[in-house]
Amino acid sequence: MPRERKILQDAQRIVVKVGTSTLTHETGKLNLGRIEVLVRELANLSNQGKEVVLVTSGAIVVGTSRVGLSGRPRTTKEKQAMAAIGQGILMQVYEKIFGEYSCVVAQILLTKADIDNGKRYRNAVNTFNTLFGLNVIPIVNENDTVAVDEIEFGDNDSLSAQVALLIAADLLVILSDIDGLYTADPRSNTDATLVPLVTNITEEVENLASSAGGDLGVGGMSTKIIAAKAATEGQIPVVVANGNNPAILRQILAGEEVGTLFLPSPKDG
Ligand code: GLU
Repeated sequence: MPRERKILQDAQRIVVKVGTSTLTHETGKLNLGRIEVLVRELANLSNQGKEVVLVTSGAIVVGTSRVGLSGRPRTTKEKQAMAAIGQGILMQVYEKIFGEYSCVVAQILLTKADIDNGKRYRNAVNTFNTLFGLNVIPIVNENDTVAVDEIEFGDNDSLSAQVALLIAADLLVILSDIDGLYTADPRSNTDATLVPLVTNITEEVENLASSAGGDLGVGGMSTKIIAAKAATEGQIPVVVANGNNPAILRQILAGEEVGTLFLPSPKDG
């Protein structure tokens, strides 16, 4: 096992973010097979005594598909309405499948405003900690119905980093439909190779991400790098890996060299 990966084996409090392209089919309907595997793996981690948080996307796409609209909604108010429809559907599915493994889940919807406001921030921390104490798995999404920020500029990659910082997680895992950070876009460049380890998110790494493309959801690789930067600056390691691999969480936590590991950034001084 690579030496740097040893820290992953000890991670106790883990945030796992899964994007729309991993959770849904191209039809906009839920990819139940993939969700079942993900839920089973998270339930298994919870059974091992780990504290897990799922940051889920997919509300807008699923809501859009439920009302039978074709294509992505364009206006902000349409996106917000689709999120309001889809969020309930998402939670219904998570509640059902986690329930099959006797896991209790809780819905937490946050906006950037909650993170920025000291009092709301502390309330959120208290809620997470109370849920952990009850052995409940929090399922987080942006509160899209009121947050124009995310829909216009933001993404759940950043949300997942903020959640990881909020609960002082030991690890943030961002699951995407790509194996990790590549040296070039692997879809157009056959010489592209996976970068297994990033010790410092330099400008060079940032540039790599903007040219390397990413998943089909809101955030590409560059939003993942921004999220990784925020988390690693807060001393939280981040792994970006492929959510299409059913064994991915187990492999990451076993310290296997999968995905890209971003190490906590070196402390000043
Ligand atoms: N919060 C959005 C949703 O649930 C997704 C945002 C993202 O994919 O980053 O549909």
